[in-house]
Amino acid sequence: MGATPHAAPAGASDIPSVERLLGSAADLVAQYGRSRVLDVLRELLADLRRQALQGELAADALRDGKLIEQARSRLSEADRPRLRAVFNLTGTVLHTNLGRALLPDAAIQAVVQAMQAPANLEFDLSTGRRGDRDDLIDDLLCELTGAEAATVVNNNAAAVLLMLNALGNRREVVVSRGELVEIGGAFRIPDIMQRAGARLVEVGTTNRTHLADYEQAIGPRTAMLMKVHCSNYEVTGFTKSVDVGQVAEAARRHGLPTAVDLGSGTLLDLTRWGLPQEATVRETIEAGADIVTFSGDKLLGGPQAGLLVGRADLIKKIKKNPLKRALRVGKLTLAALEPVLALYRSPELLAQRLTTLRLLTRPMADMQTQAQGLQPTLQQALGAAYTVGAEPLFSQIGSGALPVDQLPSYGLAVRHAGAGRPGRALQKLESRLRALPRPVVGRIAHDTLWLDLRCLEARDESAFVAQLQRLNG
Ligand SMILES: *Cc1c(COP(=O)(O)O)cnc(C)c1O
Repeated sequence: MGATPHAAPAGASDIPSVERLLGSAADLVAQYGRSRVLDVLRELLADLRRQALQGELAADALRDGKLIEQARSRLSEADRPRLRAVFNLTGTVLHTNLGRALLPDAAIQAVVQAMQAPANLEFDLSTGRRGDRDDLIDDLLCELTGAEAATVVNNNAAAVLLMLNALGNRREVVVSRGELVEIGGAFRIPDIMQRAGARLVEVGTTNRTHLADYEQAIGPRTAMLMKVHCSNYEVTGFTKSVDVGQVAEAARRHGLPTAVDLGSGTLLDLTRWGLPQEATVRETIEAGADIVTFSGDKLLGGPQAGLLVGRADLIKKIKKNPLKRALRVGKLTLAALEPVLALYRSPELLAQRLTTLRLLTRPMADMQTQAQGLQPTLQQALGAAYTVGAEPLFSQIGSGALPVDQLPSYGLAVRHAGAGRPGRALQKLESRLRALPRPVVGRIAHDTLWLDLRCLEARDESAFVAQLQRLNG
């Protein structure tokens, strides 16, 4: 910053000493501690000396009050959390880059409590002996899925890795070529298989795999047959895949288990809420799968976790594997997971209580009214350079759940009204929205910046509106 033309210039000798400044910074010292304030004041004074040498230092920049305020803003800027709350108006409800599922209130309270007080994480309260952290949730998981046993690890990628290593190390795992998926963030079935020490045996073709393909691949070194949910794409046209039931039947004839990586994994039939159809974990078990793995923070609506359910003997083997210790979940995850699972015991109330499901099932009329209410406010904040409309659009579930299904939604559509290329103007606006105190993340498509309101619930609306005035100018 240069000196304003009319201000008197100042020299290096006019710069106050750090001791004197520190004397007038008592409240900063109380808040940040003496050594940190001293460091920041020294930095600030060094900057001033550089400006003085270049003849760019104005005398009125040296008032103590002004310097202290600069130090305060440097300190608070440095302390601003890197992980910040944002508004997810992308239309993707389970947005992996924005942290996927939001936790319901019951889970939030349980996590706070687990952070504040010691808990029986691995402590059997009835015997006073050492317990197993899986005991906290395995009954619930079995009740909700019909499985014999269950265990939990850090995420579904970890669940697949652990399962493959525990049951398939140095042996062969048969998978259809149509299911060798890559999930975002470099999770690829062939790579995980290799890291787990299992040899992948691919069968069928990209678009068609038959039961005979699986049967022909079974040999003396086969450990299991595996099916993987095609989470983020769909093969259409001339296609054939073999369902879990048939694969499991073929496996059983050879005395082999069948594993299914369900990806998102739902515990209840979503069609009862008008959502697309997806096989539940229970149906997958009933169809004959011996092990099913799925994520905690996708459709399930809980914390990041990888859940493994299935046959008791296989789960036992999985739990004994040393990788289990390396991939285990912490107490905060378990604290959050238990109440989320418990909500599934009351399906009629789930769409109200489970945040993910509440967002996925928000009534269209709600979102439309909200969009129409917000439209004039955003229009006023943006001025004449943009036009804002309340318009229908489509949301996605996200995180690989039902990738081709779209949910009718409502939102704000912002278009550039002035001259010049609309793309540039929209990108500029998008970055201004991201620079707000609570960043707003939308999406640009077809020369329009879309702000999908599905994930802006009533309780967050006033915070959203309050910061819009900062967009002025
Ligand atoms: C999402 C997904 C994974 C990875 O799950 P994370 O919980 O993100 O580790 C693995 N397999 C499938 C089929 C998935 O959809």
